[in-house]
Amino acid sequence: MPVPPVPLDQLIACPCCDALHHATVLGETERAACVRCGTLLVTPRTRSFLHVIALAFTAMILMVGAVFFPFLTISAKGLSHASSVFEAAMAFSEGILAPLSLAVLLVIVAMPTLRFAALIYTLWPLANGRPAWRHAARAFRLAEELQPWSMAEIFIIGTAVALVKVAGLASVSLGPAFWAFCALIIVTALKNAFMSKWTIWRAIEQS
Ligand SMILES: [Zn+2]
Repeated sequence: MPVPPVPLDQLIACPCCDALHHATVLGETERAACVRCGTLLVTPRTRSFLHVIALAFTAMILMVGAVFFPFLTISAKGLSHASSVFEAAMAFSEGILAPLSLAVLLVIVAMPTLRFAALIYTLWPLANGRPAWRHAARAFRLAEELQPWSMAEIFIIGTAVALVKVAGLASVSLGPAFWAFCALIIVTALKNAFMSKWTIWRAIEQS
C-alpha cells in the first residue's frame, strides 16, 4: 500500500546524516535531536535565539582583538618584530600579490563578521518577541551562504603549521590575538551547536 505523501514543510532532514524526521513545534524546555546521529534539529525558540545573539556579539568583539592586537612576535639575534593579522595581510597590498591581501582579509575577517552581523539582524527582533525586520529572510540566507567561506579555523591550522617551521629559525612567541582567534573558534562552534536553522526559518515565516 503506498504511503500517503507528507507535505514538505512538515519534514526536517538532519544536516549531518540526512535522516528524515516529522517536524513538530516543541515547548519552551524541549529540544529535538536526530534519532540516528544525535545532531540537534529543533531548539526552544526564545532562549536559543538569545544564546546565538550573545555568542555572535562575543565573536565580533573577539574578532577586533584577533585582527588588530599583536598575533606573534619573532625574535632572532637580538632583533624582534611583532605583527598583527591586519599588518600581515597588508604586507602583500602592493604589487602582484595585492589580490592575496584582499582575499585574506575577506575570508578571515570580512565574511565571518558579516555573517555574525546578519545573524544578529535576523534574530534580534525574534528573540524579543517582535515580528522579524524587513529582509530578515535575505539576511539569514546570506549568513547560511557565507558559512563555507568563513575560514578563521583554517587560518589557525595554517598558522600552527607555519609556526613549527619558523620556530627552528627564530624564537616565536604568541600574542593576545592568537588566543583571541582560538576563543573565536570555540565561540563559533558553540553558536553553531545552539542554532537550529529549522526553528529560525519557521520563526521568520510566522512573523
Ligand atoms: Zn542525523
